[in-house]
Amino acid sequence: MDMVTKLKPGIPCGTCGVLRRYLLNFSAAENKADKIATAHNMDDEAENVMMNLFQNDFEKMIRLGPMSGITQYGGFVPRIKPFMFISEKETMLFSMINGINALHTPCPYSGFGFRGVISRKIKELESEIPGSKRNMLDIMMELKKAHAGAYAENAGTRLVNCAVCGAPASGEICEACNLKMQIKRLKST
Ligand SMILES: [Zn+2]
Repeated sequence: MDMVTKLKPGIPCGTCGVLRRYLLNFSAAENKADKIATAHNMDDEAENVMMNLFQNDFEKMIRLGPMSGITQYGGFVPRIKPFMFISEKETMLFSMINGINALHTPCPYSGFGFRGVISRKIKELESEIPGSKRNMLDIMMELKKAHAGAYAENAGTRLVNCAVCGAPASGEICEACNLKMQIKRLKST
Protein backbone atom coordinates (compact mmCIF):
# COMPACT_ATOMS: atom_id res chain seq x y z
CA MET A 1 0.00 0.00 0.00
CA ASP A 2 2.94 2.36 0.65
CA MET A 3 4.06 1.80 -2.92
CA VAL A 4 0.51 2.20 -4.24
CA THR A 5 0.08 5.56 -2.46
CA LYS A 6 3.29 6.79 -4.11
CA LEU A 7 2.10 5.72 -7.55
CA LYS A 8 -1.62 6.52 -7.30
CA PRO A 9 -2.56 9.71 -5.52
CA GLY A 10 -5.43 9.56 -3.04
CA ILE A 11 -6.62 7.17 -0.37
CA PRO A 12 -5.58 3.56 -1.02
CA CYS A 13 -8.56 1.86 0.72
CA GLY A 14 -10.26 0.94 -2.57
CA THR A 15 -7.10 -0.65 -3.97
CA CYS A 16 -6.43 -2.46 -0.69
CA GLY A 17 -10.00 -3.82 -0.63
CA VAL A 18 -9.82 -5.17 -4.18
CA LEU A 19 -6.44 -6.83 -3.69
CA ARG A 20 -7.35 -8.16 -0.23
CA ARG A 21 -10.57 -9.78 -1.48
CA TYR A 22 -8.64 -11.23 -4.41
CA LEU A 23 -5.98 -12.75 -2.15
CA LEU A 24 -8.53 -14.10 0.34
CA ASN A 25 -10.53 -15.73 -2.42
CA PHE A 26 -7.39 -17.12 -4.06
CA SER A 27 -6.11 -18.56 -0.78
CA ALA A 28 -9.52 -20.05 0.10
CA ALA A 29 -9.68 -21.80 -3.28
CA GLU A 30 -6.14 -23.10 -2.86
CA ASN A 31 -7.04 -24.53 0.55
CA LYS A 32 -10.43 -25.83 -0.66
CA ALA A 33 -12.14 -23.75 2.05
CA ASP A 34 -15.92 -23.36 1.85
CA LYS A 35 -16.00 -20.23 4.06
CA ILE A 36 -13.70 -17.33 4.83
CA ALA A 37 -14.03 -16.15 8.43
CA THR A 38 -12.91 -12.55 8.80
CA ALA A 39 -12.29 -10.66 12.03
CA HIS A 40 -14.73 -7.82 11.28
CA ASN A 41 -16.12 -6.68 14.60
CA MET A 42 -19.06 -4.57 15.78
CA ASP A 43 -17.16 -1.32 15.21
CA ASP A 44 -16.33 -2.25 11.60
CA GLU A 45 -19.88 -3.30 10.81
CA ALA A 46 -21.39 -0.18 12.43
CA GLU A 47 -19.08 1.88 10.20
CA ASN A 48 -20.36 -0.02 7.15
CA VAL A 49 -23.99 0.61 8.15
CA MET A 50 -23.42 4.34 8.67
CA MET A 51 -21.38 4.74 5.49
CA ASN A 52 -24.16 3.12 3.46
CA LEU A 53 -26.73 5.27 5.25
CA PHE A 54 -24.95 8.51 4.38
CA GLN A 55 -24.32 7.35 0.85
CA ASN A 56 -27.99 6.40 0.50
CA ASP A 57 -27.00 2.91 -0.59
CA PHE A 58 -29.81 0.73 0.70
CA GLU A 59 -28.93 -2.26 -1.46
CA LYS A 60 -25.38 -2.34 -0.17
CA MET A 61 -26.60 -1.95 3.40
CA ILE A 62 -28.86 -4.95 3.32
CA ARG A 63 -26.07 -7.03 1.83
CA LEU A 64 -24.08 -6.52 5.04
CA GLY A 65 -24.49 -8.93 7.91
CA PRO A 66 -22.79 -12.02 9.31
CA MET A 67 -22.62 -13.80 5.96
CA SER A 68 -21.83 -12.06 2.70
CA GLY A 69 -20.45 -12.61 -0.75
CA ILE A 70 -21.95 -14.10 -3.84
CA THR A 71 -22.62 -17.75 -3.14
CA GLN A 72 -24.28 -18.97 -6.32
CA TYR A 73 -21.19 -18.70 -8.48
CA GLY A 74 -18.41 -21.28 -8.34
CA GLY A 75 -15.07 -19.75 -7.44
CA PHE A 76 -16.45 -17.29 -4.89
CA VAL A 77 -16.12 -18.34 -1.30
CA PRO A 78 -18.75 -16.88 1.09
CA ARG A 79 -17.43 -14.72 3.91
CA ILE A 80 -18.62 -15.02 7.49
CA LYS A 81 -18.06 -12.58 10.36
CA PRO A 82 -18.14 -14.50 13.65
CA PHE A 83 -17.10 -11.40 15.66
CA MET A 84 -19.76 -9.12 14.21
CA PHE A 85 -21.57 -8.59 17.52
CA ILE A 86 -18.39 -8.21 19.60
CA SER A 87 -16.76 -4.81 19.97
CA GLU A 88 -13.24 -4.01 18.82
CA LYS A 89 -12.12 -3.45 22.43
CA GLU A 90 -13.53 -6.80 23.57
CA THR A 91 -11.83 -8.79 20.80
CA MET A 92 -8.58 -6.97 21.53
CA LEU A 93 -8.78 -7.65 25.29
CA PHE A 94 -9.71 -11.30 24.71
CA SER A 95 -6.72 -11.88 22.45
CA MET A 96 -4.35 -10.10 24.86
CA ILE A 97 -5.57 -12.05 27.91
CA ASN A 98 -5.39 -15.34 26.04
CA GLY A 99 -1.98 -14.69 24.51
CA ILE A 100 -3.27 -14.75 20.93
CA ASN A 101 -0.73 -13.16 18.64
CA ALA A 102 -2.99 -10.72 16.80
CA LEU A 103 -2.13 -7.37 15.26
CA HIS A 104 -3.52 -4.53 17.35
CA THR A 105 -2.11 -1.62 15.41
CA PRO A 106 -4.62 0.00 13.09
CA CYS A 107 -3.84 0.40 9.41
CA PRO A 108 -1.73 3.58 8.94
CA TYR A 109 -4.26 4.77 6.33
CA SER A 110 -7.38 4.02 8.38
CA GLY A 111 -7.73 7.55 9.74
CA PHE A 112 -8.16 9.06 6.28
CA GLY A 113 -11.13 9.31 4.01
CA PHE A 114 -14.80 8.78 4.55
CA ARG A 115 -14.37 5.71 6.78
CA GLY A 116 -12.06 7.66 9.08
CA VAL A 117 -14.66 10.41 9.57
CA ILE A 118 -17.43 7.88 10.22
CA SER A 119 -15.25 5.89 12.60
CA ARG A 120 -14.54 8.98 14.73
CA LYS A 121 -18.24 9.97 14.75
CA ILE A 122 -19.30 6.49 15.87
CA LYS A 123 -16.83 6.54 18.76
CA GLU A 124 -18.27 9.90 19.87
CA LEU A 125 -21.84 8.61 19.56
CA GLU A 126 -21.09 5.44 21.49
CA SER A 127 -19.60 7.38 24.40
CA GLU A 128 -22.58 9.76 24.53
CA ILE A 129 -25.29 7.23 23.69
CA PRO A 130 -24.03 3.81 24.86
CA GLY A 131 -25.42 0.99 22.76
CA SER A 132 -25.48 3.03 19.53
CA LYS A 133 -23.22 0.63 17.67
CA ARG A 134 -25.27 -2.44 18.56
CA ASN A 135 -28.49 -0.61 17.69
CA MET A 136 -27.13 0.27 14.25
CA LEU A 137 -26.40 -3.40 13.61
CA ASP A 138 -29.81 -4.49 14.89
CA ILE A 139 -31.67 -2.08 12.62
CA MET A 140 -29.59 -3.23 9.65
CA MET A 141 -30.46 -6.87 10.46
CA GLU A 142 -34.17 -5.96 10.70
CA LEU A 143 -34.05 -4.20 7.33
CA LYS A 144 -32.20 -7.14 5.85
CA LYS A 145 -34.87 -9.54 7.10
CA ALA A 146 -37.73 -7.34 5.90
CA HIS A 147 -36.25 -7.07 2.42
CA ALA A 148 -34.94 -10.61 2.04
CA GLY A 149 -35.36 -11.63 -1.58
CA ALA A 150 -36.04 -8.08 -2.77
CA TYR A 151 -32.45 -7.81 -3.86
CA ALA A 152 -31.10 -11.15 -4.95
CA GLU A 153 -27.50 -11.65 -3.91
CA ASN A 154 -26.10 -11.09 -7.35
CA ALA A 155 -29.06 -9.52 -9.11
CA GLY A 156 -27.97 -7.78 -12.26
CA THR A 157 -24.40 -9.01 -12.03
CA ARG A 158 -23.50 -11.50 -14.69
CA LEU A 159 -20.24 -13.14 -13.76
CA VAL A 160 -17.62 -14.56 -16.07
CA ASN A 161 -14.11 -15.84 -15.44
CA CYS A 162 -11.30 -13.30 -15.63
CA ALA A 163 -9.29 -13.74 -18.83
CA VAL A 164 -6.02 -13.31 -16.91
CA CYS A 165 -6.40 -15.16 -13.61
CA GLY A 166 -9.63 -17.11 -14.00
CA ALA A 167 -11.24 -15.60 -10.89
CA PRO A 168 -14.95 -14.67 -11.07
CA ALA A 169 -15.31 -11.21 -12.61
CA SER A 170 -18.06 -8.90 -13.82
CA GLY A 171 -16.02 -7.89 -16.90
CA GLU A 172 -13.47 -9.58 -19.15
CA ILE A 173 -10.66 -8.83 -16.70
CA CYS A 174 -11.19 -8.79 -12.93
CA GLU A 175 -10.67 -5.67 -10.84
CA ALA A 176 -7.55 -7.07 -9.18
CA CYS A 177 -5.83 -7.92 -12.49
CA ASN A 178 -6.80 -4.49 -13.85
CA LEU A 179 -5.23 -2.85 -10.80
CA LYS A 180 -2.08 -4.95 -11.07
CA MET A 181 -1.68 -3.89 -14.71
CA GLN A 182 -2.25 -0.23 -13.78
CA ILE A 183 0.38 -0.43 -11.01
CA LYS A 184 2.84 -2.15 -13.34
CA ARG A 185 2.32 0.62 -15.92
CA LEU A 186 2.81 3.34 -13.30
CA LYS A 187 5.95 1.64 -12.02
CA SER A 188 7.51 1.58 -15.49
CA THR A 189 6.87 5.28 -16.15
ZN1 LIG B 1 -8.07 -11.61 -12.76
